[in-house]
Amino acid sequence: MSFSSNAKEEICRAAVNKRCCALAESYGVLLFCNTFSRTRVRIVTESTPFAQRIPKLFKKAFGIEPDSITGGEGSKYTIEIRERSSIARIFDAIGYGEERDVALHLNLGVVEEECCRAAFLRGAFLSGGSATSPEKNYHLELLTSHYYVSREAFALLLDMGFEPKASKRKSNYVIYFKSSEQIENFLTKAGAPVAAMTIMSAKVEKELNNRVNRRINCDAANADRTVDAAQEQLEAIAALRRAGILETLPEKLQETARLREMYPELSLNQLCEMFQPQVSKSCLNHRLRKLSELARK
Ligand SMILES: [Zn+2]
Repeated sequence: MSFSSNAKEEICRAAVNKRCCALAESYGVLLFCNTFSRTRVRIVTESTPFAQRIPKLFKKAFGIEPDSITGGEGSKYTIEIRERSSIARIFDAIGYGEERDVALHLNLGVVEEECCRAAFLRGAFLSGGSATSPEKNYHLELLTSHYYVSREAFALLLDMGFEPKASKRKSNYVIYFKSSEQIENFLTKAGAPVAAMTIMSAKVEKELNNRVNRRINCDAANADRTVDAAQEQLEAIAALRRAGILETLPEKLQETARLREMYPELSLNQLCEMFQPQVSKSCLNHRLRKLSELARK
């Protein structure tokens, strides 16, 4: 199951209780669904829990039932209301007079209470929302075909402390979030805290992986430098031997050359420990530089 459908399933676990919230949630569903007009309501969804929730929701909010629910079993559900008296009751309940017929607006009276605002977001997400899996990307969007609804829902989200973004896609208006924190907050508010937690842990995992990768790259670079330096020192020692100089050098330098050849893979710090008694890093560094210098001459 996709991240979106999991989130929707989680949201649908909330019982349909208070009428004020049932109305606000239904309102969100209607404003963000496929068709909402004076003549027809048409909701299309892939989510089984959402399709099953709509009759309960509309019963509580408007005292009506959908005229038909078709599809399911691997295909999308289509929930329709065409009955004039049912649609009239919906428009009545959400406070739309005749003059609102042309362009739908967001009636803020329905979403006055804090509980109802959350319910409205829930409905909008169930109906016109989708969210990308946090392993891929951080993206959550709400899509509506009504221009004023998108603008006014945008303002409502700002008022609730969100930082939404907006764009247009074909004949639809999109409100979206790109920040993982905003998406977490939205999902928590809409009633999907588990989905929000999934985003949080995906984020932690990503950061951890990045840190580990940076660390590995850094270690690899250090190892490369150690190998390069050791290679140069070994060449210097070999050159000194070929020239017959090595055995004429002071014992300290000869010992250094011996140990370097014995342990070519060790870093300076590790090589220091091979001396009896142990020498300091700066001392060893000095001796190795001296060998290189002599070899150049
Ligand atoms: Zn409420």
